[in-house]
Amino acid sequence: MARIPETEIQRVKTQCDLVALVQSRGVALKQQGSNWTGLCPFHDDRKTPNLIVTPGKGLFRCMASGCGKTGNAIQFVQWHDGVSFRHAFELLANGGTVAFEQTGGRTKVSTVPKLPCPLSPDGDEAVLLDEIADFYHQRLARNPAALD
Ligand SMILES: [Zn+2]
Repeated sequence: MARIPETEIQRVKTQCDLVALVQSRGVALKQQGSNWTGLCPFHDDRKTPNLIVTPGKGLFRCMASGCGKTGNAIQFVQWHDGVSFRHAFELLANGGTVAFEQTGGRTKVSTVPKLPCPLSPDGDEAVLLDEIADFYHQRLARNPAALD
């Protein structure tokens, strides 16, 4: 899997409306000068709004001791939604579809290891495989387009 170019990460960080993003995750924010404050979604924040969002810097920070979560828009989505950094990036970039210039024309190579087939053709498994083969054979026989 291709690395996300640093320029793309910077673009998403700077172009993302962090206040709107945090609010979209159900956090009510109040403007205080150049900052916005609200209840931190990363710990049990009920009385004092500990979350400070600074849209000018594209950063958020929790002021509560014991939490202290801080980061940018991509990290906010990563932690709040429980997804990977890449997934969070893709959610924010271009509404979810990201095209990398550097992958143009190159074949993607899977990095996921292939597992051996859990079925071996003996005993019940052989019967099961026969049933599966029969099922697909019958489906095929009923489909004129496939027979052609
Ligand atoms: Zn917090």
